[in-house]
Amino acid sequence: VQFSRLRLTGFKSFVDPTDLVIADGLTGVVGPNGCGKSNLLEALRWAMGENRPTAMRGDGMEDVIFAGAASRPARNFAEVVIQLDNSDRLAPAGFNDADYLEITRRITRDVGSAYKLNGKDVRARDVQMLFADASTGAHSPALVRQGQIAELINARPKARRRILEEAAGISGLYQRRHEAELKLRATETNLTRVDDVIEQLA
Ligand code: ATP
Repeated sequence: VQFSRLRLTGFKSFVDPTDLVIADGLTGVVGPNGCGKSNLLEALRWAMGENRPTAMRGDGMEDVIFAGAASRPARNFAEVVIQLDNSDRLAPAGFNDADYLEITRRITRDVGSAYKLNGKDVRARDVQMLFADASTGAHSPALVRQGQIAELINARPKARRRILEEAAGISGLYQRRHEAELKLRATETNLTRVDDVIEQLA
């Protein structure tokens, strides 16, 4: 699966709809300081389900919405669309019947985020899992922020292990295990309750 397109509307400094074609091979983005190069990487990460505002260099998630400039009013929503080329049919099971996958995340002020996969409403978790299983994703080590190399060198072994697990594409399994454990605990609580009821009836 390859990134083939990135579309931004109202995301940070990209107030007007901006469409980037990501061709095969190496893609470079050049521009003066502050022109929005890092914002592009953040857009990718955000649409993949990043939920920590600090990872977007903001205090709250709505900070990704274009905040206005001298000559332009602020926007009410931000939207990022990632298009993935799936002609090699390597997308994870369940997502593998289309030539292209389009993942859309939109945040609206006072409403929050909504995700779509090929036009259908999906949950944040579905998008996060899709990318985690494809060993990319919001925390992917393939997306390197400024200062991240230094963080990696100084990281404690546990943190470094998490990075390796993300690269190996197994972080989705941890999430599933966590969810299964929560379900198990809820079921155990229910069983205890049933036992109580049976005891009262006896
Ligand atoms: P550098 O080379 O310094 O890292 P860069 O090209 O990576 O810069 P970014 O840090 O991606 O640039 O972009 C920062 C720009 O985005 C700043 O001009 C900032 O004002 C603008 N910006 C960030 N968030 C918003 C927002 N919510 N609304 C409007 N503009 C924003």
